[in-house]
Amino acid sequence: MSAAARCVVAVETPQHASLGGLLDYLCEQPLAPGTLLRVPLGRREVPGIVWDAAPDSAATDGQLRPVAEALDALPPLGDAWRRLVDFAAAYYQRGVGELALAVLPPELRKLDNTQLGRRVAKLQKLPPLPPAADPPALPPLTDEQAAALAALAGPGNGSTPALLHGVTGSGKTEVYLRAADAALAQGRQVLVLVPEINLTPQLEARFAARFPGRRLVSLHSALTPAQRLRHWMLAHLGGADLVLGTRLAVFAPLPRLGLVVVDEEHDPSFKQQEGARYSARDLAVWRAVDAGVPVLLGSATPSLETWQRVQEGRYRRLALDQRIGGGAMPRVRLFDMNTLPRERGVEQPALAPPLLEAIRQRLERGEQSLLLLNRRGYAPVLHCGACGWKSGCPHCSAWRVFHKLDRTLRCHHCGFTERVPRACPDCGNLDIAPVGRGTEKLEEQLAALLPGARVARIDADSTRAVGALESQLSAVHAGDVDVLVGTQMVAKGHDFRRITLVASVNADAALFASDFRAPERLFALLMQAAGRAGRDAEQAARSEMWIQTWHPTHALYAALKRHDYAAFAASQLDERRSASLPPFSHLALVRAEAKTVQAATEFLNAAAALAAGASHISVYPVVPPAVSRVADVERLQMLLESPSRPALQRFLAGWLPQLQPLRSQHKGVLRWAVDVDPLAI
Ligand code: ADP
Ligand code: ZN
Ligand code: ZN
Repeated sequence: MSAAARCVVAVETPQHASLGGLLDYLCEQPLAPGTLLRVPLGRREVPGIVWDAAPDSAATDGQLRPVAEALDALPPLGDAWRRLVDFAAAYYQRGVGELALAVLPPELRKLDNTQLGRRVAKLQKLPPLPPAADPPALPPLTDEQAAALAALAGPGNGSTPALLHGVTGSGKTEVYLRAADAALAQGRQVLVLVPEINLTPQLEARFAARFPGRRLVSLHSALTPAQRLRHWMLAHLGGADLVLGTRLAVFAPLPRLGLVVVDEEHDPSFKQQEGARYSARDLAVWRAVDAGVPVLLGSATPSLETWQRVQEGRYRRLALDQRIGGGAMPRVRLFDMNTLPRERGVEQPALAPPLLEAIRQRLERGEQSLLLLNRRGYAPVLHCGACGWKSGCPHCSAWRVFHKLDRTLRCHHCGFTERVPRACPDCGNLDIAPVGRGTEKLEEQLAALLPGARVARIDADSTRAVGALESQLSAVHAGDVDVLVGTQMVAKGHDFRRITLVASVNADAALFASDFRAPERLFALLMQAAGRAGRDAEQAARSEMWIQTWHPTHALYAALKRHDYAAFAASQLDERRSASLPPFSHLALVRAEAKTVQAATEFLNAAAALAAGASHISVYPVVPPAVSRVADVERLQMLLESPSRPALQRFLAGWLPQLQPLRSQHKGVLRWAVDVDPLAI
């Protein structure tokens, strides 16, 4: 039997296969690019997507295999979607087929064409939502909001990304809503990206309240597979007007895309940390520019990459400098921990006496306090004073954390958990002691220091159960909590009305971290945390942000005290420029995992040898990451740097395909991967 046509199909092929995941197949009739398929690959049948029109050459038809099934009940994925995947695959150095199929809802693979057709028909028949009885009342825009929206609607709106720069409570969300309204009025779809699932419900609620007649769907990893499929299909079929989601939503097919919003654009969660390590923020910008539609990046503390683009005139800055209702940012108070009396063998108090007093004042006034400590558990390590034993993880180069509530020692890297030993496992000493302080201990100490106060804790441990976070947050909102202890989880996004004091208990830890982005992240976190206090204008006057520090004169804290993001950014960018770090250079990180340090090192050194002499590329020595052994696997990494993004891209595209064959010569290597524009190095 001779088939009538050929097509180029994107299929999942193993990582970095030289084929890139595009294979030719025969089909009975020409299939539109973007059509979903099932095709034979080896002895299996795998999903695929028609990627291109067939090449003209008639050769080798005889060797091509026919398509198994065309899933053409689903309208083809559009050109814009395929361009996005093509770009992302090339930029992040993955196969087109691998990436294309990885970003589809997994449930899609389970359906045959008939089942698919039934779903499509059902979703296409969904009746429009009834318009709201009373349209929502809109607040009159502030001058700054009006100016931002005018700029967004003005010339250049589809080609120059806009940074919406404003602190918490400055009215950014209102600008998103108005911009969305304009896009919806033109019959367009709106894509809104948020960094974390936890932040979707509140934004979803505000969009739903503003646009009652519009269909809004969410896309994130906490949906059931069936929900995710349904929401994705609604986006693709055009039935959804608003799509709100986490980083994976950047790949939602949107045939009528009219606006892209990235809220908290600086947040590291936009970077995918496994598989194709893409930045959803950067892809969102690319996608909007490609589609010629406006993109709004919102933040109080933009990423330095974004800020530098503003300096260069490649992005526009739309400023919201005033908080709505005139509320001021809280006063920042640096408490110098060096002034506390020190006694040998006596642990420093969790809170300096003046800070404790400030919390007591809040208690008396019926106001809330938020204490931030970025370390969960009771204590980061247990220690035997007699023999020096410490609670190391046998599988990782890390300490196991003492969790007092369930009396366990837990490794936060590999999960290895044991009951706390009653005595030192090495010498039998009964007096093994926790060293340092985590959120559990802070909670316990606060309860002792503030009798009668209602102390609560929110961190990854307290919120493990489904719905736990929501119920804990609503207890805070309802005023059932006086003092809240939490990790950075609570510093982000939540709109607490009654908090007038925020304190960072141990901020310094990030000041001297080896990662060059640590100060940027600390500044963003502290600004964001400060934004939690005094959102109510009347309370703003007496709101405070406390920072306990041993380095009160540090430039980062000085800028924070003045709420001066621009000064902080300028000083950081100076440092980055002189050290040739991003955004003034471009990085790629190659990671290798092996049973032994030697195997991973040899592989990376051999890879480095293949890179020798490449122009405009610096290859740094092989080094271990901060935690080098996890779950008995040794991890090593090698950084590549280039002053030119295209030069780095060209180099990687030629070099990486040589690494897969190299790996087969280094049998001990379990895995390797490249991370383009790595966030943590
Ligand atoms: P952000 O997103 O920057 O934190 P929001 O848009 O949530 O700021 O605005 C903060 C608060 O002010 C919200 O309660 C919002 O409803 C209100 N708000 C925003 N814009 C206006 C306005 N122009 N007039 C009155 N209230 C507004
Ligand atoms: Zn001991
Ligand atoms: Zn471990």
